[in-house]
Order: sequence, then structure tokens, then C-alpha cells
Amino acid sequence: MSLEHEISKRRTFGIISHPDAGKTTLTEKLLLFGGAIQKAGAVKSSKIKDHARSDWMEIEKQRGISVATSVMGFNYKDVKINLLDTPGHQDFAEDTYRTLTAVDSVIMVIDCVKGVEIQTEKLMEVCRMRNTPVICFINKLDREGRDPFELLDEVEEKLNIKVRPLSWPISMGKTFKGVYSLYEKSLHLFTPSKTKVEEGIEVKDINDTVVDDYVGENNAKQLRADVELIEGVYPDFNVEDYLSGKVAPVFFGSAVNNFGVQELLDTFIRIAPPPIPRETTLRLVKPIESKFSGFIFKIHANMDPKHRNRIAFLRICSGKFERGNNYLHVRQAKGIRFSNATAFMAQDRETVDEAWPGDIVGLYDTGNLKIGDTLTEGEKMIYTGIPSFSPEIFKEVVNMDAMKTKQLEKGLLQLMEEGVAQLFTYELGKKKAVGVVGALQFEVIQFRLKNEYGASCQFVPQNIYKACWISSKNPQKLNEFIDSKQRHIARDKDDKLVFMAESRAWLKMVQDNFPDIEFHFTSEF
Ligand code: GDP
Repeated sequence: MSLEHEISKRRTFGIISHPDAGKTTLTEKLLLFGGAIQKAGAVKSSKIKDHARSDWMEIEKQRGISVATSVMGFNYKDVKINLLDTPGHQDFAEDTYRTLTAVDSVIMVIDCVKGVEIQTEKLMEVCRMRNTPVICFINKLDREGRDPFELLDEVEEKLNIKVRPLSWPISMGKTFKGVYSLYEKSLHLFTPSKTKVEEGIEVKDINDTVVDDYVGENNAKQLRADVELIEGVYPDFNVEDYLSGKVAPVFFGSAVNNFGVQELLDTFIRIAPPPIPRETTLRLVKPIESKFSGFIFKIHANMDPKHRNRIAFLRICSGKFERGNNYLHVRQAKGIRFSNATAFMAQDRETVDEAWPGDIVGLYDTGNLKIGDTLTEGEKMIYTGIPSFSPEIFKEVVNMDAMKTKQLEKGLLQLMEEGVAQLFTYELGKKKAVGVVGALQFEVIQFRLKNEYGASCQFVPQNIYKACWISSKNPQKLNEFIDSKQRHIARDKDDKLVFMAESRAWLKMVQDNFPDIEFHFTSEF
């Protein structure tokens, strides 16, 4: 098969949602269509339940599941679909942010009762940074949800993206009748079912009385009024606007009832982008280029503490990946060869000999690879757009066992490379602060340091609001700033300068007082 053909049939995407909106359920239904699983209930939720916050067994189990469901590949109508799992629990949001750098598009699930929730907003911010195309699925129509127009307004307002409904619900909750497909001009009638899929009923003219026969007179009247309003208010759907991240097409349905899911999937394979060109430090790289290149977006330590090997997740961006080939590890400027590479098909893992742009391959690694690393056939370019985000909770690391200082340092370093948290080292006194997105991370770090490295540490809460990466066009001003704020200056893992701001108000004041200094909330600027 040619490279061009392999690229054109691939779709690599992620599903994002606030926890409980229905991501796991939708994932499962999509896999059912792909024939990748046989029955409902086979996809384990990768979320950590609240009651399990301090339950280690649960966290360890979760880590196992999250390797198994990190990437789910399946075929549907000759399209190879790679679905990348994004942990829903907000404490693992960093992991999700980075996974979003490896997808070409996303499907966003919104609960029609709750509307746009906080986690969805944050995830969309990340998508907006890269203009990732978004399809929106409004879920749980079998419940009494909010008015659909109101939901669409909320999406536009809170998520900073225009929407275009492609289907429309007919009533909701107990009286939910189904959806009308605005582009196919067909009715899909709702019957609660976990597996069955209803065929659409073609409607040539929405004013035809057959519509009344199917959904009742009042619902038909409402539908006609709604459709008229939609066609009047929303411009026609334009695929280019979707692909450039300006407009999100919207579907309505009920994932648990497998309703509206096939329509979503059929539209997805039709409009979602195949692997797209990506920026590097040198140039834009196209998937069709014959030479292989890719980057690492996720690292997962193996469960067995006796073996220190890890799985690095490689997103292939151009050319063909071949197991056993010698590739250039650009950061380390040396050749690297992987005799053991894994593909992810549904929940099976299998050895892979070759893989194509858009595919994700698991590489067994003993500590050479870090998140953000680029592999190529020789060109010294590095993929950009895989930033660290400013963490939200900070604690100082205190070593509790002087005999194990080396182990602690090594353990911390490796966990940071895995992306579990971010380490900031103060210029003064070399004090180390760990920053995380969610509090649960501290428990995971402490546990794993002990379990995998034999090191003991405690965390002392620090009064820090944000870590801001700083830069300035004027080196002298930057030096003056560093001198005046010495106690608050640290370095991140890549030795980049960071200002540790203690409060929002103080940060604002400092920003006003030092107009020559730029403050950044992601590490890439
Ligand atoms: P996630 O946290 O986003 O992965 O959400 P889940 O897929 O685990 O779903 C959360 C809950 O919502 C589960 O109890 C699902 O059964 C339920 N759910 C999912 N889809 C629907 C739906 O269409 N209608 C209703 N009523 N419940 C749903």
C-alpha cells in the first residue's frame, strides 16, 4: 500500500468531556461499530472515582487500565481510526492536554442537562491553541435537558467557537422522539436500545404530514419552527471552517442508547482530517514525506517496580515507521533502535513491524525518551507544540531519608520525565518545588517514590498561585527583574526561567510594574 493511501484512510482523534458526560459510553459504542469489541461494558472507564482518591490499589489498577485504553485502534468502513483516551479526572488533566497534541481532531461530549462544564472549558482552551477541529456531541437526550438553542449559545460563548447544528432533537427526556438530520433531511426515531441502530426515514419535505404521523402534530410543528430558525440564524455548514477550527458541527443523541452515534461516526469519517502537517523547529513537516518522523507525547512507567522499563507513546507524523530501524533521537543526538514496538488495536496490544502517519506506537524504553522528544531519519528538527502548562498546586519536596538522597533525585527526575508533575528548582538555596494540576498527583508521587525507588519524602504546601515562564526582548531588563525578584525565581526541567507568583493580585501588580517582561502560562512561547 502506498504512503498516500495509508495517510488518507487514517483518522486520529480524542474524545474530551467533563467527567460523567458520557465519554466512556460513547467510546464503547464507537468500538462496537468498529467491531473492535463484541459487547457493551467492555470498555473500562479510565476515571478514578472520588471515593478512590486515596485508595492505592485503585490507582494502581487505574494505571493498568490507562495503558490498555491509552490508544484504541479500530477499522470502520475502510477507515483506520485511532482513538486516544484522555483521562477525565481533572487531577490528570496535564496528561490529557499533552494527548491532545497528538490528535488531529476531537469529539467533545456535552451533557444536555449540565451544559458546558469547567473541565470542558479547559480542554477546549488547549484545542483552541492549535485550532484543532472539533465535533460536538450533545448527549443524554433521553433526559430532561436544557433548551437546545440555549445549549448552543452556551457552547459558543463559553468555548469560544461558532457552532452549526447538523442534527436537531425532537423533544427531550420522557417524550424524546428522535433527531432530524439537517443535511440528510431524514428523521431518526428514538427507541431506547443498547445495541440496535435505527435506519433513518427520508423526509423530502419537512412540511409533509408524514412527519406529523411519526412524531405527533405538536412536535412536528415545533420541529418546523426550529428548523426555520436554524436555517435563518446559522450559516450553511462549511467543512473548511470546521477544519480550521472556526466552526464546530453539532450532533444530538444518547450514547447509552446508541442513538445518534452512527450518524456521528459516519460524519466523522467523512469530514474529520486525516493526519495533518505539523510544525517543527526547522519547518513544517507533511505526513506524505517519505522519511519517517514522530514525537513522544506520553510516557507510562511499567507496573513492575523491579523492571525500570517504560512505554513511550510515539505519534508518527511523516513517512513509514519500521521496527528495528535506526532512528535519530534528536535531543540526545544519537541513534536509537527499537526492536520491540507495539501497536494498539482496541484492547489488544500486538507487535508492530511498520506503522504510518497518524498511528501511535508504544516503544519500550529504559530511560532514553522524554515527553516532547522527536525521532527522525536524520534531520535535526524538533516537533513543537507540546508545551508544559502552569500547574495549579505547589509543594516543596522535603527528603525524609538522608541515605536515599540519590534515589529521591533519580525518582523525581524520572517521574517528571513521565509527566506526572513538574519540578521547579529555586535559584536561591536550590529548594525544589513540585507543581501539579491536581492534588491526587502528590499521593501518586509519594507512593511511587517509595515503591519504585525506595525514597521517602514529604510535601510541604507552598503558597504559590502560578509558575510563569518569563522572557523579555531586553536582556538587561530581564536581569534587573531577576535581581529584584531573586527569591521567587526558579528553573524548570529544561533550565527555563520561571517566576513563582504568590497570588493573582501580586502577579498582576508585578506585571504592571515590569512592562518589559513577558509572563507565559505555558512553557512554549
Ligand atoms: P465519562 O465520565 O464521561 O466517561 O462518562 P460515562 O460514559 O462513564 O457516563 C457517565 C454516566 O452517564 C453513566 O452512568 C452512563 O451510563 C450515563 N450515560 C451515558 N450516556 C447516557 C445517555 O445518553 N443517557 C443517560 N440517561 N445516561 C447516560
